[in-house]
Amino acid sequence: MPELPDVEGFRRVLAKNGLRKAIVRVVVRDARILGKLSARTFAARLQGARLVAARRHGKHLMAKIDRGGWLTLHFGLTGALQFVPASGEEPAFTRVRLDFAGDGGLAYTNKRMIGRVGLVEDAADFITAEGLGPDALDKRFDFAAFDAAVSRSKRDVKAVLMDQAIMAGIGNIYSDEILFQARIDPAERIDKLAPGQRKRLFLKARAVLKAASAHGAGSERFAERTPKGSLLPERRKGGICPSCRSPLKIFKLGGRTGYCCPRCQGC
Ligand SMILES: [Zn+2]
Repeated sequence: MPELPDVEGFRRVLAKNGLRKAIVRVVVRDARILGKLSARTFAARLQGARLVAARRHGKHLMAKIDRGGWLTLHFGLTGALQFVPASGEEPAFTRVRLDFAGDGGLAYTNKRMIGRVGLVEDAADFITAEGLGPDALDKRFDFAAFDAAVSRSKRDVKAVLMDQAIMAGIGNIYSDEILFQARIDPAERIDKLAPGQRKRLFLKARAVLKAASAHGAGSERFAERTPKGSLLPERRKGGICPSCRSPLKIFKLGGRTGYCCPRCQGC
């Protein structure tokens, strides 16, 4: 499932290949991905327009349209954004494609159709309407702000990290990585952590997401690009701790399957 580092990768694809080029054709292969928006309205708004800025907030990607408004992309469970050269073949499961004048196009693919492509008038209003907290890498969102948002919660730390309303961008996979790097039990209640542990959790969240984005790592895709000592490539049956070589524990929490090291994290 795409998380912050994956969507950051898609933002780069959009920024590198999709900005300031006239959109000559809008192809909607499956209008269900547009929700209530009609394919006709969607195409009319983008046909002949140019995308002029790419912005990511949590797991959402937004592109500013020169005529006004924003194109929004959410990747759900299996979504991706790819550049397709003019001579290239359309990728499998393409739901929406934007073709540029003489220079290929961008394909939004999504095998399982969970996700959304849309249009909004204002990016800030959209973020509010989606109930998103600050982006997990937003510099203005510091430890004091994080601590104020979570210190009275009685939920487990993994659920808190994945709560998009507190901090947007982290899902099941990166919450496991962050908790492993912070050496914290995913099932521990956030209010039971010592202040020093909460600080370490926050700092590790930043460090893990920054490093993954910088290395072009994703969640399921490009897991091997994560820095040495990462849990992510070991998130599988029979996986071992990259630090102490103990077999990893597989657990269920809130309907998700997670991985942790019993020895390093006391889980
Ligand atoms: Zn370990």
